[in-house]
Amino acid sequence: MSFYRDSLEELIKSDLYRSLKQVESAQGGRVIIDGRDVLLLCSNNYLGLADHPQLKNASISATSLYGTGSGAARLVSGNMTLHEELEKCIAIFKKCESAILFNSGYSANIGVIQALAGRGDTIYSDRLNHASIVDGALLSRARYIRYPHKDVTALRALLETHKGKGRQFIVTDGVFSMDGDVAPLRELVALKNEFDALLMVDDAHGTAVMGCNGRGSADLMGVSDQVEIQMGTLGKGLGSFGAYVAGSAELIDFLRNKARSFIFSTSLPPSVLAASIAAIDIVSSPEGDRLRSSLESNRVLFSGLLSAAGFNTLDSSTQIIPVMVGGAEQTMEFSRILFENGIFAQGIRPPTVPPGKCRLRCTVMATHSKADLEVSASKFVEAGQRIGVI
Ligand SMILES: *Cc1c(COP(=O)(O)O)cnc(C)c1O
Repeated sequence: MSFYRDSLEELIKSDLYRSLKQVESAQGGRVIIDGRDVLLLCSNNYLGLADHPQLKNASISATSLYGTGSGAARLVSGNMTLHEELEKCIAIFKKCESAILFNSGYSANIGVIQALAGRGDTIYSDRLNHASIVDGALLSRARYIRYPHKDVTALRALLETHKGKGRQFIVTDGVFSMDGDVAPLRELVALKNEFDALLMVDDAHGTAVMGCNGRGSADLMGVSDQVEIQMGTLGKGLGSFGAYVAGSAELIDFLRNKARSFIFSTSLPPSVLAASIAAIDIVSSPEGDRLRSSLESNRVLFSGLLSAAGFNTLDSSTQIIPVMVGGAEQTMEFSRILFENGIFAQGIRPPTVPPGKCRLRCTVMATHSKADLEVSASKFVEAGQRIGVI
């Protein structure tokens, strides 16, 4: 088909063509790619749990007992003991009445937003929210209003303008996935109370790493009991796969009956469920605290070295540390040079980020060694000078 080729050539010409890198080992702080041992600086496996013996053993035992597949959607015959057990674990972990599993964060966001909002309703969404929130809002057919990033004054004006136009929803990432900064949740709570809106927080990057026991960004800011719809993922900090929504028993019952991505999809398999249960055990234990404190000291070390060298890392205050470059070509060149030097930091381009805001989205892990991060920062400086970013 020539339109495939035309479209691909267009991407190649504008340096926006994407290809896959193959990881030939388990996901750790270092991985094997193209037969070479490289430092991995772009994984969301923040605490290193994806390769943790406790998760692996739980997964293997569950497979021996319950098999590899769940065979059906939850509402047919695919509701197994482990689904119920994991949902109970999540409700306790999040200190909520109830929780519901989804097959991924993407699937949770489209399912939840489509179920809750409809024609005539209004969704207010931070401009930098994840693509799955945008897609959920599109599916919902509700009025979709983007507000400038973290700008609560602008949001307030928009709420004032559109008040009375159906049910009102404010949706935000807890930690912004490409910028690594944190949503102003206290202010958003005040606004949703004032305007009688519901607040949904997507905590894909706060879960397991922030707040008491890794309960997430809303816990860190002391407002978790005020966020009606708390979404989080199991595949990032928790090292497994899937996602959840936690909230009131009524909300969860509603989603079980209305969320199409929950209803019309085969449920998560036993191995994944058991790994998630083990992960929540670990993040709620003293080991979880130790991992979070290593993550934090690695973050401080690495982002400190990069900022001191003159890199622009935006407002990052988390393990997600963007290294701003600008153009797509320069960004991919930066990534290529680093890779030649044993560092894998993926370049991020439109449509993931706005044009002209290409970057290397670096993420530190609890399992990185200080020495690796120091060497790596010096390679960033060399490469950054070579391509003229600093
Ligand atoms: C990764 C991510 C998702 C999607 O979660 P998956 O489980 O990977 O599908 C949703 N929201 C945000 C903010 C994310 O970063």
